[in-house]
Amino acid sequence: MTTPHVLSTATSTLPPVDPGLLAALEALVPGGVRARASDRLAYAHDASHYLLTPQAVVTPRDAGQLAALLRGSAESGYPLSFRSGGTSLSGQASTAGVVVDTRRNFRRIEVLDDGARVRVQPGATVRQVNTRLARYGRKLGPDPASEAACTIGGVVANNSSGMSCGITANTYRTLESAVLVLATGTVIDTADHDADDRLRLLEPELYAGLARLRDRIRTDPRSVQIITEQYSIKNTMGYGLNSFLDHHRPVDILVHLVIGSEGTLAFVAEATFRTVPVHSAVATGLLIFDRLSAATAALPVLVDSAPVSIELLDATSLRVAQRDPQATADLLGLTVRQQAALLIEYAEPDADALADRVDGALTTMADLPLTGAAELSTDAARRADLWHIRKGLFATIAGNRAPGTTALLEDIAVPLPSLLATCEQLTDLFDRHGYDDSVIFGHARDGNIHFMLSEELGDDDHLQRYADFTEDLVTLVLEQRGTLKAEHGTGRIMAPFVRRQFGDELYQVMVEIKRLCDPQSILNPGILINDDPNAHLAHLKSSPEVEQEVDRCVECGYCEPVCPSRDLTTTPRQRIVLRRELARAEAAGDHELAAELRREYEYDGLDTCAADGMCATACPVLIDTGRLVKRLRAEQAPAAERTAWRAAATGWGAGSRAGSLALTVARHAPTAAVTKINRLGRALLGPDTVPLWQPDLPGGGRARRPYPTRDPEAVYLPACIQTVFGPERGIAGDGIGVSEALLILCARAGVEIIVPDGIGGVCCGTPWKSKGFLAGHAAMRDRVAAVVAAASPGGRLPVISDAASCSEGFRALLGEADGAEPVEVLDAVDYVAERVLPRLTVRRRLGSLALHPTCSSTQSGGNPALLTIGRAIADEVVVPDAWGCCGFAGDRGLLHPELTASATKAEAAEIGRRHFDAYASVNRTCEIGLSRATGHPYRHILELLDEATRP
Ligand SMILES: Cc1cc2nc3c(=O)[nH]c(=O)nc-3n(C[C@H](O)[C@H](O)[C@H](O)COP(=O)(O)OP(=O)(O)OC[C@H]3O[C@@H](n4cnc5c(N)ncnc54)[C@H](O)[C@@H]3O)c2cc1C
Ligand code: SF4
Ligand code: SF4
Repeated sequence: MTTPHVLSTATSTLPPVDPGLLAALEALVPGGVRARASDRLAYAHDASHYLLTPQAVVTPRDAGQLAALLRGSAESGYPLSFRSGGTSLSGQASTAGVVVDTRRNFRRIEVLDDGARVRVQPGATVRQVNTRLARYGRKLGPDPASEAACTIGGVVANNSSGMSCGITANTYRTLESAVLVLATGTVIDTADHDADDRLRLLEPELYAGLARLRDRIRTDPRSVQIITEQYSIKNTMGYGLNSFLDHHRPVDILVHLVIGSEGTLAFVAEATFRTVPVHSAVATGLLIFDRLSAATAALPVLVDSAPVSIELLDATSLRVAQRDPQATADLLGLTVRQQAALLIEYAEPDADALADRVDGALTTMADLPLTGAAELSTDAARRADLWHIRKGLFATIAGNRAPGTTALLEDIAVPLPSLLATCEQLTDLFDRHGYDDSVIFGHARDGNIHFMLSEELGDDDHLQRYADFTEDLVTLVLEQRGTLKAEHGTGRIMAPFVRRQFGDELYQVMVEIKRLCDPQSILNPGILINDDPNAHLAHLKSSPEVEQEVDRCVECGYCEPVCPSRDLTTTPRQRIVLRRELARAEAAGDHELAAELRREYEYDGLDTCAADGMCATACPVLIDTGRLVKRLRAEQAPAAERTAWRAAATGWGAGSRAGSLALTVARHAPTAAVTKINRLGRALLGPDTVPLWQPDLPGGGRARRPYPTRDPEAVYLPACIQTVFGPERGIAGDGIGVSEALLILCARAGVEIIVPDGIGGVCCGTPWKSKGFLAGHAAMRDRVAAVVAAASPGGRLPVISDAASCSEGFRALLGEADGAEPVEVLDAVDYVAERVLPRLTVRRRLGSLALHPTCSSTQSGGNPALLTIGRAIADEVVVPDAWGCCGFAGDRGLLHPELTASATKAEAAEIGRRHFDAYASVNRTCEIGLSRATGHPYRHILELLDEATRP
């Protein structure tokens, strides 16, 4: 069937802002309104394929301001859309009205009843909540794959689910109560014993209307039948009408209708969940069948064997998975024809229970027509490999799609007996519409499958193809008595089809629900209920080709929670989409907008990026936005600055000693005078060039000197940062610093290491690399390679560095040296944990120790060694739940201390809640950042180890 007409994609010019609206918003949320071009365009993007530019972005401080905002909106009629993690895929988190950022100031988590329940504000991510619950052996029921980035607000509002929770542990089933702010500003806590009475008193029309709809549905057998059928499978189309059958009191009906209402009925200010147990004994297997029909036929018996998840992979999925660089040998050995696989997992509270479960499952599997013997593995590495086959699909397809195309992740569910026919017809549809490589995967146990399309939505022919495909898909799924959305929400993409799925009567019930809760339609209008039959084809996102890093991005938002600048300026996703918007503005000849975006990007995008690469650790397609930023910084740097840094590489020994001297002088000079000179310098040369001096900075450190030994087993390169910044004071008041501590520890353990001649001029190269100054970086590389080669001919000895970020820097630097032998670079913490610690005796243990792992130790896998040393010297070792990169990043914390202040706020608050005997990290600048943020002295873990093992 052909769709009659297709609407155009979003335009590139920025719609004007209504100044009256901005003034009204500012009056309600003072200081919380942003409407610069880059604010609006950054929030125009979410993980979906829709693009609407909001008028403004408002960040309320608390539920009171939120309620005022809603009342103001009801009075003047301007629409509001809540935005939390922005990981929604159906278009429900974007708007041309006002975006309300409900993530930033709503992140409180309160564990109740030893983890049996948890009370959460909507801006906390699922991962943050589960981290808090982990020590109680509990977790949330809803388990979306996007758990690292999606938030409680989004999970409740989308009724999100995942591989395991099905329809028994989703939000609908596990939400105990919620605090709701209604469109009128009325606040209802559904946990209150008189909540139903309060609703009746405060909102009589809504109360009566819900009771009326309940009775209308219950007395109509056809409605009851449709609802029973529709909600026997996972279903996020329209409003959750099962609320009317499952609950009687209007307040209970209301809170369950809000689940899955996509921000169209009320604001969820707080949610209390019943949690589910985490089962630690787990076994996983990949069952391969020679065809899809055999795999789907096996589902009923496999479901009876009580797995926690069964994931389907069709033949195209297996073929695509073989292209993954991490593909396992057995997968690569498979000649894929028409096979299909089921990835199955069992989880039980303990090993005995698991063994029983696995025995029973293997007996069942022995009767299945598998291509090989069934195997269920409890080995963590093997299990991770198996899951990578399934989880890597998204990255492989999304990361390799053609530049300029947008990735669409679809989500349908059908009753289990219809799964085979649905998959087969879906494959036909892909062929018919020319969507190659569209893999079918998903939660087979629940009849819930996903598939991905890569589409060029800016091109009319492709848009028509997409429209035709959608029409065919709707027909196919509804003929199979399925649902067009199982997990991801109706949004814009399926709003025009809600009536077709539920019929006229139940659609009218939904329209009435919206009218009762939001009579002026101020809450996310156009979402979930929309009478425009082509609403799903309007405001589509086209992605201009920009540059390699940017083009791969699918705008999923996974990178946002780990970014140190997320609450100060921009996130990695926003840095990327603003590059897209800049390209769009330039292509449209909108020079004014382009200039404005470039100007705002300077500080938001470039200056305040810590370039720590934390985003790459969270990105499914492995984009390191920091690398993009470094390149852009280098391109924009004036030639004079590049030359100066090139010269600095040659005279680095004198440079680092001068830095040390300056800090020592500053420490002893009158504070006012130093502050004045420093301010002048920053004003003249720019705040991204001259560091901000503050009285809490340490004085300078000692110059590095060679330390010759006769028979060294490693070359030790003390970091220049230890010269620039002196140490914190130690327990003996001597404050020797990590460099001396390491030499003393090695001597104490009888391990010989050498500090080579020429050490004074050595640096890991990070200052040049982070600024993108490649010539200076190359000069330093040659110097370091020569110093190391002289001490260790042929690269025989490993190199040790005593600052986690410098270890990374040396690794990159020495890895790039032309013609040199490969050199192993070890962080001092890893080295000591393995070679030195076993030869030491701990004589003075600490009671408690707070640890701050760094971004570098996290990315290089050094945290286990850090914990090993921590546990060797302290009875209790705590890494705060709110741990994150401190954003100090070499010089960023000096140039822009506000970056570190913002990045460390949550961690510092957590640390401040109790006392620790000591505080440690593994990088001098991070130690300074954390000391400043918490008011407690952070020192290198090796300094503490030295003190604990002194004779
Ligand atoms: C790669 C990828 C994989 C995904 N996998 C899954 C999956 O396995 N399962 C699944 O279910 N989903 C999945 N999703 C979809 C998405 O992550 C979830 O729907 C998620 O719960 C959305 O949460 P969010 O915090 O990003 O919400 P947002 O996208 O910011 O908002 C979602 C909706 O909730 C509303 N909202 C937000 N906060 C509130 C509040 N406090 N009160 C009222 N309304 C509010 C918004 O207005 C919007 O309509 C995936 C997404 C991506 C990009
Ligand atoms: S950079 Fe990666 S994680 Fe971030 S939005 Fe893009 S694809 Fe997602
Ligand atoms: S490198 Fe760090 S600061 Fe920069 S975008 Fe990535 S996570 Fe954010």
